[in-house]
Amino acid sequence: MEEGLETRCTEREDYILVSHNNRIRRRKHSHMNVAEEKLQKAISITLSAGYQLDKEAFQFLNDLAQTEDPLTIIESAIKKLESLPEKPLFIGKSHLEDAAKELSKKTTFIMPLLEQEPEIQESKRTFHPYAKDVEPELKIIEDPTTKICTTGAIEEYTQYFRNRFEKLQKLLKQRMDTRDAVTIKATYKAPPNSKLKTIGMISEKREINNKIILRIEDPETSATVLVPKNAPPELQEKAHLLLLDQVICICCIKGKNNLLIAEDFIWPDIPQKTPQKATSHVSAALISDLHIGSKLFMREAFSRFIQWLNGKYGNEQLRELASHVKYVVIAGDIVDGIGIYPKQLNELEIKDITKQYEAAARYIEQIPEYIEVIIIPGNHDATRKAHPQPAIPKEYAEALYETRKIWSLGNPSRISLHNVEILLYHGRSLDDVVGLVPSITYDLPDKAMKLFLQCRHLAPIYGGKTPIAPEQQDFLVIENPPTIFHAGHVHVIKHDYYKGTLLVNSGAWQTQTEFMQKLGLTPIPGIAPIVNLQNLQVTPISFV
Ligand code: FE
Ligand code: ZN
Repeated sequence: MEEGLETRCTEREDYILVSHNNRIRRRKHSHMNVAEEKLQKAISITLSAGYQLDKEAFQFLNDLAQTEDPLTIIESAIKKLESLPEKPLFIGKSHLEDAAKELSKKTTFIMPLLEQEPEIQESKRTFHPYAKDVEPELKIIEDPTTKICTTGAIEEYTQYFRNRFEKLQKLLKQRMDTRDAVTIKATYKAPPNSKLKTIGMISEKREINNKIILRIEDPETSATVLVPKNAPPELQEKAHLLLLDQVICICCIKGKNNLLIAEDFIWPDIPQKTPQKATSHVSAALISDLHIGSKLFMREAFSRFIQWLNGKYGNEQLRELASHVKYVVIAGDIVDGIGIYPKQLNELEIKDITKQYEAAARYIEQIPEYIEVIIIPGNHDATRKAHPQPAIPKEYAEALYETRKIWSLGNPSRISLHNVEILLYHGRSLDDVVGLVPSITYDLPDKAMKLFLQCRHLAPIYGGKTPIAPEQQDFLVIENPPTIFHAGHVHVIKHDYYKGTLLVNSGAWQTQTEFMQKLGLTPIPGIAPIVNLQNLQVTPISFV
């Protein structure tokens, strides 16, 4: 044991000798010092407890000291030995391995990034963060946090639905082809066989003998719409896409007994637009679903992502990309939370919500200071689950707010970065459309996001898996089509463009949980989509 220490001391002197003009080596030396100090302390604790480390155990502890705390491991190993009826004289490698394993179950060892690999950190090529010299241009356009005021009374639901209808009707009426739409009541008075357009919220949808029957409502009254058996295939296809509670314009012919026979359906949709772009070459890393606290959180991959932001990971090309990152946007599920899915406890590494946020803060704080960090909550975060969700309260996530400046907003929120408007939404309601519409599956979240834009609503179906609070106004209506629509939740990275809007689903940093396996959800984690705000090009970078 003593022999070992001696060898290391000589090595250390060598370092000092060769490193006179070399900052990197000197850093390594000072870093070794801290590790060795701890190692020495661990050894003296062992001795005073009446034990000795055998050669293998010493080597193990020595290696471990570079990244983890040897003191806690030794202490826990001794504690375990103390409980044995017959205490050994030597502490072996297996004792330490057991202690390390047990500890890693209880706490997360976050790699101390700044000390771990100084060679990468200060390689010959220095890192010039271009984004450091660019002033941030961040505007919060809409954040529901301070506007939430529901009590849950029945009248509030009526008010909420009325507001949803009115907002969407207004959006529909902005279209050229729906301006002549009349109210449902007015269709009653129209003569038979007349061609009509009307706007309604779908309250019922049934399929009987290849006929599709809809019930539509507006604040005054309701009507029945029929999609006949012999309707053209395009119309049948459109009818199959219709979701309950969505507001739609129906082109129809007046039949008997006020029945409306459908000829076409018009979605509010978004108009084709020329996207806004930044004038400076800055990028945003759009991520989500970290799930810190879960045993399946990919801490190594995520650490590499943070290292990359610091210019300490990847080749020249990747470092070039990192130098332009001015914003890190996290679209919810920062932590794994507690009691979110069945049997979650078995898969939790940190079982205390405050500690989960503490662990998260230890990563977030390592994001370079010149980068703005924007966070919204997801269904795993410690805030109310009903939409819209207010920002994560300080009460649970104090560490997150204290270590570094962050912009903590509600879900959904709208921001603009260098005049590029971004709609941030965690994506819970993606669960409600997957499976309902045959073409939308968990591995194609971009398709569901496109559907939300067509419906101009973030949760078109009411009463599914997405809890919605009956606010006086519907925060989930997409009133202003964004340039970028960023969502997460399904843990599958995907991006696409739709009518000038960039759709990004930002994947995850957690491998497949048992629950996901049951749902048939195969995640694509560990990849960060980087969006160049100057040209809206997306570069997915893998950190796996
Ligand atoms: Fe998630
Ligand atoms: Zn989620």
